[in-house]
Amino acid sequence: MAKCAGCNSKVEPGMVRCASCGVDLARPGAFLQTLGFVVVAISTVPFALGEVVSSEGNHLPLIAGGAILAVGVAAILSARSKNRGVAPRVIEDAVADEPAAN
Ligand SMILES: [Zn+2]
Repeated sequence: MAKCAGCNSKVEPGMVRCASCGVDLARPGAFLQTLGFVVVAISTVPFALGEVVSSEGNHLPLIAGGAILAVGVAAILSARSKNRGVAPRVIEDAVADEPAAN
């Protein structure tokens, strides 16, 4: 289970705001990182297309795919550097969730 770093209340996975104290649980780079992963996923489309048309000497989809991939990776790296130095707002506490042994 996870706990809010501010008030120690239990927080559900995926929650963006603590139900108890209202603190913003999402890290500052979280959205940018998600966006980066989406962009990287999108870059597979021109790569797949390039696989089909490259036999005809058309490498434009591969170039476009590479450019999109680079943008996505840059977004993820930028998000990671944003998150660095930011204290975690959710404390993962796996032990507390274990049922008591008899
Ligand atoms: Zn809280």
